[in-house]
Amino acid sequence: MNWVDGHCDVLFKMWKDPINHSFTSEQSALDVTWPRIKQSRVSLQVFAIYIPQRVPRSGTWEVALRQVDYFYERIVRKNGPLFHVQSQHDLLQIGRGIPAALLALEGVDALQGELAYLRILHHLGLRQVGLTWNYANEAADGVLEGRNGGLSNFGWQLVKEMERLSMILDVSHLSVRGFWEVIQQARTPVMASHSNCRALCSHVRNLTDEQIQALIQRQGLMGVTFVPQFVHNDPQKATVDDLLGHVERVCSLGGEGILTFGSDFDGIDHKIPGLEHAGHWDHWWNALIKRYPESLVYQWAFGNAIQFYERFLPAVKG
Ligand SMILES: [Zn+2]
Repeated sequence: MNWVDGHCDVLFKMWKDPINHSFTSEQSALDVTWPRIKQSRVSLQVFAIYIPQRVPRSGTWEVALRQVDYFYERIVRKNGPLFHVQSQHDLLQIGRGIPAALLALEGVDALQGELAYLRILHHLGLRQVGLTWNYANEAADGVLEGRNGGLSNFGWQLVKEMERLSMILDVSHLSVRGFWEVIQQARTPVMASHSNCRALCSHVRNLTDEQIQALIQRQGLMGVTFVPQFVHNDPQKATVDDLLGHVERVCSLGGEGILTFGSDFDGIDHKIPGLEHAGHWDHWWNALIKRYPESLVYQWAFGNAIQFYERFLPAVKG
């Protein structure tokens, strides 16, 4: 089986500690490595730029560029292991059996209120943007910001620019109010790259049934995620079976056609037993195939996400 993984934090770890986070080494401290991607047949891995809150605002842009540099130097560089997908045309490479990488941004703090910085990252191949991490920034409130604000004027300028550039908007981490504003007013494609179901696990990072239904109506994408805190109210107890419950819930709402996966590997310290790194996708396949027909599992592992990107990435790199 081939997989699409909608979210990982490899670039953040490389920036934090480049020595111990080799992408190609078998001994790497990373969860997502080239040997594991190859072993699990991950066809498309999304790599997020993430800047931790402790970086002062004035330093965020440089940190983002350093992470882009790691993406180019270690992951997609000429003859590097993965092919950098930036357009519909590029997706053809996946069909030819070449594993690919897509560049995303988790929180626009690094843009420092500058639309020009979004355009520069777009030129560097950025295609998917989450407006916030968990807290507020110039664009919007994150989901842990108690006041639950929506998008700011800058947030809307950013969304308009993303519409113009055909960029994908990721609503994982966004405040509930921000989510609904985006659903009602943004014309960008919308996805939640790594979120589960609030009805089964009450963490605020998870989506309510109404939010999931809105993503379905919007023909978006929802990446069920392996983060134990988002799987079970007692994260220590989270199992593969609990994760299957989230898959079942999305399906029961009519979401078979938007379901995909966003592991959050390298962004989490604790793991679901058996789903601990990118070499474990086979375990997830074995669990899914016991409950669902192969054609459906194929859609969730690969088809839904690939069709989404085929529909919404720009036709050619421009
Ligand atoms: Zn995240």
